[in-house]
Amino acid sequence: MSRPPRIGVLALQGDVREHLGMLERSGARASPVRRPAELEAVDGVVVPGGESTTMHKLARTFDLFEPLQQAVRAGLPAFGTCAGMIMLAEQVENPAPGQETIGGLDIVVRRNAFGRQVDSFEADVDVLDLATPFHAMFIRAPWVDKCGAGVEVVATVASGQAVGRIVAVRQDMVLATSFHPEITGDHRMHELFVGMLGR
Ligand code: GLN
Repeated sequence: MSRPPRIGVLALQGDVREHLGMLERSGARASPVRRPAELEAVDGVVVPGGESTTMHKLARTFDLFEPLQQAVRAGLPAFGTCAGMIMLAEQVENPAPGQETIGGLDIVVRRNAFGRQVDSFEADVDVLDLATPFHAMFIRAPWVDKCGAGVEVVATVASGQAVGRIVAVRQDMVLATSFHPEITGDHRMHELFVGMLGR
C-alpha cells in the first residue's frame, strides 16, 4: 500500500482516543466513526472496549449496526478489543437479552469470563508473531471458549490461574483481543493490525 491506510475507530462508546493515538503511532491515519458515511471512507475499523450491550444499542441508534455487519462480511478489516471482541464474535455464550453481534469471527466468546472477584488484572500473554510477551490489561474481559476451523489462536495467557486461556484470535482480516492493548503504551498489537491491511 503506497499511502498509509485510513483506519476508523467506532466512536459510540469506550476508549476511542487511546486507539486513535495507537493507530497513528503504528503508521496509519486514524479517525473516529459515528456515521455510515464515515465507515464507508475507511480501509479498516477498530471496535473498542466498553460495554458490548451498550455498544450494540448505540450502533442500532446511530444506524451503524447493519452497515458494520455488511462491511465486515464483505471483507473490511476489523480489530476488536474486549467488548469489541464480543461484538465481532459470531456467538456469545452468555449474551444479555436481545444482544446481537456484528460477527466476522467464528468463535464462541464468554463475557466477563475471568470472574467477578477479579474485575481487572494484568498478565503477560504469549502472542504469535511477537518476539517477547505482551503485558496485557484485562478489564471485565471475555475469553474465547471455542474457535472454528478458520480461526487462528494469536495469544494465550502465559501463566497464573487462567493459563492457556485464548485471549486473541484472527480470522482472515479480523483480529480481536480480550485485553486492552490501547492503554499499555505497547503498540505492537496495533502494528499487527495495520500490517494485516498492507498484505
Ligand atoms: N464486560 C464487557 C462486555 O460485556 C467488556 C468489558 C470491556 O470492554 N472492558 O461488553
